Amino acid sequence: LRDFKGNAANFFLNRFGYASSTSRGGRLEGKVALITGGASGLGRAAAYEFIQEGAKVIIADINTQVGPQTALDLGPQANFVYCDVTSEAQVAEAVDFAVAHHGQLDIMYNNAGIPGPSIPPSIADLNLDEFDRVMQINVRGTIAGIKHAARIMVPAKSGSILCTASISGLMGGLGPHPYTVSKFAIPGIVKSAASELCRHGVRINCISPFVVPTPLVMDQMAVFYPGAGREWITEMVNGLGELNGAKCEEVDVARAAVFLASNDAKYVTGHNLVVDGGFTCFKQLRF
Ligand code: NAD
Repeated sequence: LRDFKGNAANFFLNRFGYASSTSRGGRLEGKVALITGGASGLGRAAAYEFIQEGAKVIIADINTQVGPQTALDLGPQANFVYCDVTSEAQVAEAVDFAVAHHGQLDIMYNNAGIPGPSIPPSIADLNLDEFDRVMQINVRGTIAGIKHAARIMVPAKSGSILCTASISGLMGGLGPHPYTVSKFAIPGIVKSAASELCRHGVRINCISPFVVPTPLVMDQMAVFYPGAGREWITEMVNGLGELNGAKCEEVDVARAAVFLASNDAKYVTGHNLVVDGGFTCFKQLRF
């Protein structure tokens, strides 16, 4: 069994290109984290980094194809629960699962999100049902996570809530209109909640990542560049970055999440941590 787990971990490391299989600093030792949208992409990378820092992780996701396998690959510190964040009851159940299993919830990472319409329509053609769907997952789902984490963390007088925003929440034109609106909303709810939760010893922050070629982005890009191979799209996306040719990787976002979740950020709340290599500092976009 140990061999199998070792091989699974190596497979995971190789496949996703993470830096090291050795355990790092223990900055989340003894902590319990719940990550929505943790089956894939940025959520999965955060799960890996949190475990490397000593946490136990619950992956809450609708993807039953990939989610349970991700938890298996991550090893005994990970569990999978089915959770559709559009259902407040399921978010509440996922939080209760964390507490029932581990006796506590220290980190709630509201990360699940969708890009919305695959071909960004003109505002004049916007389908408001599609708009509602994006808001249900990206905004309402995040708020449900904040609400139910606060239910546990406020009485405990401790906890760190993280949310995934985006550089699309800092400027227009980077994504479909509904996605942009949904991501502008995240720093808003974070500031609003922080103003209350700080009195209870609970911190809440969000992260605004640059483009990382996760399944979400690859699917979106495949619509704009039909026929283009995965490698070409990855290279093109990475080429948008500005930090001296460095690309934005899942691990860059995940380690920002580790910082915000950990005691290193004990005086940081209501913040939007932009992980974009300087992209949004430029006056002119270089598309
Ligand atoms: P991804 O598609 O790899 O992962 C998203 C996960 O969310 C998937 O596992 C999916 O099953 C899950 N999910 C979708 N709807 C759900 C629901 N209703 N309930 C529970 N889980 C659900 O994409 P990703 O790029 O890792 O995206 C994660 C977050 O990062 C999203 O909020 C996205 O908007 C944000 N983001 C991504 C990028 C990027 O470039 N990849 C940039 C900025 C922000």
